[in-house]
Amino acid sequence: MQKHNFSAGPSILPREAIEATAQAVLNFNNSGLSVMEVSHRGKDFDAVMIEARSLVKELLSVPDGYSVLFLGGGASLQFCMVPFNLLEKKAAYLNTGTWASKAIKEAKAFGEVVEVASSKDANFSYIPKNYTVPEDVDYFHITTNNTIFGTELHDDPRVKSILVADMSSDIFSRPVDVARYGVIYAGAQKNLSCAGVTLVIVRDDILGKVSRHIPSMLNYKVHIENDSMYNTPPCLPVFTALQTLKWIKSNGGVAGMQQRNEKKAAVLYGEIERNKLFKGTAAVEDRSLMNVCFVMNDEYRDLEKDFLEFAQSKGMVGIKGHRSVGGFRASIYNAMPQESVQALVNAMKEFETKH
Ligand SMILES: *Cc1c(COP(=O)(O)O)cnc(C)c1O
Repeated sequence: MQKHNFSAGPSILPREAIEATAQAVLNFNNSGLSVMEVSHRGKDFDAVMIEARSLVKELLSVPDGYSVLFLGGGASLQFCMVPFNLLEKKAAYLNTGTWASKAIKEAKAFGEVVEVASSKDANFSYIPKNYTVPEDVDYFHITTNNTIFGTELHDDPRVKSILVADMSSDIFSRPVDVARYGVIYAGAQKNLSCAGVTLVIVRDDILGKVSRHIPSMLNYKVHIENDSMYNTPPCLPVFTALQTLKWIKSNGGVAGMQQRNEKKAAVLYGEIERNKLFKGTAAVEDRSLMNVCFVMNDEYRDLEKDFLEFAQSKGMVGIKGHRSVGGFRASIYNAMPQESVQALVNAMKEFETKH
């Protein structure tokens, strides 16, 4: 049976990226060697790193003065690397969910943290709007897509301070005005590659301003000066990232991704609204195009387990909701085809007629 992979992360990747990776694992560039067993400093892998970096710049129209890094440690390491490099006295954070809360927790070890707003009071079901960012902060941190709660910032905020964004679960899903950001980071395993690499885009002139000593591996400058090869980079995840970037480019770039994503999300949210059994959990204007969270309507609560089993029997994978929201979560990242979304919608319709 065909599987429809709605997993939240690690998650679906373009078939082409997986096949190209499988091929390179067996025989990289017809070298007779695996991409896993060649030097990261050899010319074949060096070309992968260079092309990946340049495609990131091309796809997101990264302006001059920014560096693109591929680092280890996951997005979670960035929760501490960002304040390590940028927080001298005070930083501001917008608390929109579990990941934002974790970022806040780490920053508190480095200086004063101002939580400018939080939607915790409503289980992070919306994005706070009317907040002010103090002018004297070293940076302001946001999470553009809240993977667990299914909310998303649909525009790049305009603020006076340096803007830092965790874009782990919506990077490359829409055009981004990179010039508004000081740092953008994203763990790869949602929209870019397999787990093991983190993309960081950083504006060079914001670095070197804190007074503390920064250990080499946590220092953006060290990684910039060494072209992400200060130590051995996660070679295979970088290779897969390059294949995904090529796939994005040949499918209309990030604008093309946005069109596809809007269409997919509209179909699924439309069905959630129409179907008497289900309701969405996120505020309509803040609904994520990547992670669609929904639950059974109150009078059908006892059908939750049945629907999960029914959906699984139709090939749906990974739609069980995160424990902090319950119900269901369908992650419909870039690589998710329209047909899989339609298959889920069909299952929802069929389940409705049975009840
Ligand atoms: C998954 C996720 C993370 C954590 O990523 P790791 O690579 O596991 O550290 C952080 N932020 C967001 C928004 C995520 O979706």
